[in-house]
Amino acid sequence: MTLRDAHNRTIRDLRISLTDRCNFRCFYCLPNGEPPLARKETILTFEEIEYISEIFVSLGIEKIRLTGGEPMLRRNIEDLIAKLSRFKIQDSGFRIQDSESENPKSKIQNPKLQDLALTTNGFSLPQRAEDLKKAGLDRVTISLDSLERENFRQITGVDKLDEVLAAIAAAQRADLQPIKINAVVVRGRNDHELPEFAAFARENDLKMRFIEFMPLDSGHGWKREQIVSGREIFEKINQIFPLELKENSRGAETAWKYRFADGAPGEIGVIAPVTQMFCGACSRIRLTADGQIRTCLFSTIEHNLRDVVRGGATRAEIVEFIRAVVLKKEARHTINDKEFAPASRSMSFIGG
Ligand code: SAM
Repeated sequence: MTLRDAHNRTIRDLRISLTDRCNFRCFYCLPNGEPPLARKETILTFEEIEYISEIFVSLGIEKIRLTGGEPMLRRNIEDLIAKLSRFKIQDSGFRIQDSESENPKSKIQNPKLQDLALTTNGFSLPQRAEDLKKAGLDRVTISLDSLERENFRQITGVDKLDEVLAAIAAAQRADLQPIKINAVVVRGRNDHELPEFAAFARENDLKMRFIEFMPLDSGHGWKREQIVSGREIFEKINQIFPLELKENSRGAETAWKYRFADGAPGEIGVIAPVTQMFCGACSRIRLTADGQIRTCLFSTIEHNLRDVVRGGATRAEIVEFIRAVVLKKEARHTINDKEFAPASRSMSFIGG
């Protein structure tokens, strides 16, 4: 049977953080340049990630996204991608007895991975895009918060705009499609660039994803006034480049997706977790680099899968552990509640 939580949501999307190290210092994530938190021996090995992923796929996980920190700082991720990509063509060979279910349609006959993606800041993609594709990676999401060199440096703490633009071109050449470009929109920092970003998407046939600023920065400097709402993002772009909502736009995904009304290439996506919460359709679960399951970006507790796996649990015991954790998935985040408590770790650790 698939993984179901207590709120009747099916979990199909696993995000795996490969490292908590990052070589960028984005002010909305790692403003003070904190060192990595996890000790080396606590970080999951590729063999452990492969084993855990295979169990998740047998439980109905269809999408795996590798993230971090900066996942490309982990050596030889091509080897891990090659291992994980095997789950796309080969079912896990393992069957979970579906005795609880009356509905035959809920049985997974041939659980297979459908989508293997990577989120990166792009710094080393120009040299490695082809190898990642060859290893079996389907697509990349690349973070790009400014198209202005000095603003990019101020937001990310590094002078690497040219490298990130080269990364996007390299991903296109390697056909790591569909390529998505993530920009966290923060008032007074990059909201004036919204039209330029939209023009960039049109000119380069890219899927832009504008994300509302969430309270996940390690410095706890997030202020509500800094949020540019999804509605405002849409309106600012729509005034200049009229947009049309795509059919089935959001579904279980996070972004409202728009096409350009004049038929130009590219796509605009708006991700508004704060002002238009989408928790009711959440299908995600996260595994941190040190093997903790997080059921929500904003969880204040984690579930130690690493110790279960390293402690010699049988496969059935690991499955039971995962199922029990999924049942604890929060109904929704509480960013907009008075008693909101920030997540126990920053986005760089959790894995975005
Ligand atoms: N290093 C990779 C990268 O730069 O894409 C992957 C990790 S990064 C944490 C993943 C995504 O999380 C990035 O697109 C980043 O912009 C987003 N992110 C980080 N902190 C955020 C915050 N406070 N609010 C919204 N998005 C955030």
